Amino acid sequence: MRYVSTRGKTPPMDFGEAVLTGLAPDGGLLLPHSPPNFRSELPELQTLDYLEFSARFVSHFGLAREDANSLIRRAYASFDCEDVVRFESLGQLRLMELFHGPTLAFKDIALQFLGHVFEVLLARTGGVLNILGATSGDTGSAAIHAAKGRARTRIFMLYPRGRVSRLQERQMVSVDAENVSCLSVDGSFDDCQALVKTLFADLAFKEAHSLGAVNSVNWARILAQAVYYGYASLKIDASAGVVPVVPTGNFGNIFSGYLAMRMGFPISRLVLATNDNDILARFFATGVYKRGTVQHTESPSMDIQSASNLERFLYYLFGEDGERVTWFMKRFHEHGEARLEPAERDHLNDAIRGVRITSEAMRAAIKTVYDQHGYVLDPHSAIGVAAAHSMASELGQATPVCMATAHPAKFPETIDQVIGEWPRHPRLDALVEGRGRVTEIPADLGVLKAHIESYPPLS
Ligand SMILES: *Cc1c(COP(=O)(O)O)cnc(C)c1O
Repeated sequence: MRYVSTRGKTPPMDFGEAVLTGLAPDGGLLLPHSPPNFRSELPELQTLDYLEFSARFVSHFGLAREDANSLIRRAYASFDCEDVVRFESLGQLRLMELFHGPTLAFKDIALQFLGHVFEVLLARTGGVLNILGATSGDTGSAAIHAAKGRARTRIFMLYPRGRVSRLQERQMVSVDAENVSCLSVDGSFDDCQALVKTLFADLAFKEAHSLGAVNSVNWARILAQAVYYGYASLKIDASAGVVPVVPTGNFGNIFSGYLAMRMGFPISRLVLATNDNDILARFFATGVYKRGTVQHTESPSMDIQSASNLERFLYYLFGEDGERVTWFMKRFHEHGEARLEPAERDHLNDAIRGVRITSEAMRAAIKTVYDQHGYVLDPHSAIGVAAAHSMASELGQATPVCMATAHPAKFPETIDQVIGEWPRHPRLDALVEGRGRVTEIPADLGVLKAHIESYPPLS
């Protein structure tokens, strides 16, 4: 399997190169040159459990079948739920719980896979990797739990001091592993991200320290997520196809669903749900991609104003025309706005419909689902459920499947306010108080470099 860049100016790569590279050298994102079509295999795939299905699925993308089997088993051994994902019924709605991994958010599914893929690739090449990232919450803890204790790998995770929730901070700093370094930065999330970007742009430093990223543009993350869309479409009994409903931020999760649909799984369309940060809902309604200002909401993992993975969708929408993608993204970065041509606009909603959900509607969904079914949704998942309700009449006979992206105990305050109950999870209750393993640094590039250099070389 060869991988190509959405900007069309990078020579094709194999799976290992695509995963280790992350962002393509021409600034684009990587995609398989000709994705497989699973249609003829569906009856057989339908009989498999999640681990078998997953191994079969990923082995079509350039990962050897033997590697895939053992890697998938190891990646998901730490999950609470034997089949990795769990289905629930809420009346007409189906819910797919994706939060049974170590940090209780769906990001574990992709990051646990990526951690093991890195390990296999590095063992083969004899390479090492210093993962560097910035987090405003869920990604940091999921990445740390995926990298901890892994050979040939170290992880440095920056977060803004006092600006991530207490629970999220504890999930990071309580990890007791030599190869994990949490950096509490005296600054904002943007300061953290700027430090990381500057260091990645310092090619000499990047090379000398084998810096790598685990952000949501990494192909392995998209691939691991496409698995559960395919799986859900076969396990759920839906004669008119399923419609995944996806609470969306960076467009990574929903893009994986779109790929599964393109590859022949019985998905009739997808619903994209945003919170008040509605850049994507507006784009899918109007064809205009226009940045706004970030608003802080009760679903913080969706508080974004530019969605890195949208570029992959645009590549297909533009008929795999890398120049058109390059032009569109350049326009967006320079002017904060880019628009589709009328002919492109005509196909924009063939697969994806967007909808913005207010905080009130999100809270109403938590309350209604709790009153009617005794089920507690987290605020992100509730945005999806509210979206499914608001689109019900347009979905016809198709069966909506809402992605439940986090365990409610990760975001207890909102739930307590709405239903008067503080959701818990034993793993979060067990997080010990105390300082944990963390280094406090100023938002200063020299200090960050010195910190990284203070570690002995990996081997
Ligand atoms: C990251 C995250 C999202 C958004 O997913 P994207 O892939 O960025 O669209 C939604 N819900 C939760 C709980 C998350 O952690």
